[in-house]
Amino acid sequence: MTILVTGGAGFIGSNFIYYMLEKYTDQKIVCVDKLTYAGRLSTLEKAMAKKNFAFCRADICDKESIDRIFAEHRPDIAVNFAAESHVDRSIECPDIFLKTNILGTQVIMDACIKYGTSRFHQISTDEVYGDLPLDRPDLSFDENSPIRTSSPYSASKAAADLLVQAYHRTYGLPATISRCSNNYGEYQFPEKLIPLMTINAMNDMPLPVYGNGRNVRDWLYVKDHCSAVDAVIRKGKAGEIYNIGGNTEMENISIVKLILNKLGKSESLIKYVADRKGHDLRYAINAAKIRSELGWSPQTDFSEGLDRTIKWYKENQSWWGELSNSTPEVRM
Ligand code: NAD
Repeated sequence: MTILVTGGAGFIGSNFIYYMLEKYTDQKIVCVDKLTYAGRLSTLEKAMAKKNFAFCRADICDKESIDRIFAEHRPDIAVNFAAESHVDRSIECPDIFLKTNILGTQVIMDACIKYGTSRFHQISTDEVYGDLPLDRPDLSFDENSPIRTSSPYSASKAAADLLVQAYHRTYGLPATISRCSNNYGEYQFPEKLIPLMTINAMNDMPLPVYGNGRNVRDWLYVKDHCSAVDAVIRKGKAGEIYNIGGNTEMENISIVKLILNKLGKSESLIKYVADRKGHDLRYAINAAKIRSELGWSPQTDFSEGLDRTIKWYKENQSWWGELSNSTPEVRM
């Protein structure tokens, strides 16, 4: 069995590669990554040492390279993590989001059809559903909720989802989609909320919080996302969408205070900054379908996962030091 993983030098893709290499020693993983600012080869250092792992540097929008990789490795399953993933960057420059997230998905699906790949899995996001009001905790999104995007990032992911569904219907591509809530854990690029706040707090630097910090997100430890994707590619039904969530809704400001508390730092480091344009208020995901149909559930409690994450950033300064220096301004 060969599994092709795009975007495997990024945060979730690399965690997925390590999860799969550890769980299935008889399977081959082929990682395809362009190594944008968000992808780092050093993240995959331990995987590189394994015989059943191969790395190909390629852009998923580059048809010829992708065709060559499929012809050589003939993957049984392709999992598409590769994407431009940062909302703020999509607001500043949508073009690359539309190209990679939509056209890149098409290129991978065309290769799957040409080479008879038995499953294509699209990694999507709960952001395709838009947001919910803060005063309606009774509401959440299930797989039939309408698509109602807020940012160029979420619009590009939603467009890709529609294309995946069209490829399933039109060409019979055996495709699945999963829509996950916010992930946190090891190897996350330091522009995202939890690593940014952790690193700034460790260095006694200001912690920039958008607006009043009351925006609510559902959080899932990255390894739990990996086990959910594994369940979907093995047991999920082609043509279906599966929501993945951690059942852990938290306000951004509560997370920031928790990080400061765990690191023994003062809340005076918090600096409220002008809100993000079109900032979604609350995401809440109903993951009942994957729980009941595929028997998946998250295993990591938020406080425990956050402890592990903070410990990892403390112990891996060499990994993020270079990255945060190369990020001209802090973002979240
Ligand atoms: P990331 O930004 O950390 O990693 C993206 C990876 O894709 C990088 O290694 C980058 O080099 C690679 N890449 C970008 N453009 C490429 C291209 N044209 N060709 C080949 N490789 C390319 O992202 P992430 O946080 O790991 O997210 C992975 C996926 O999960 C994305 O599809 C994202 O939409 C989705 N997702 C993320 C979250 C989250 O909380 N991070 C939540 C839900 C869904």
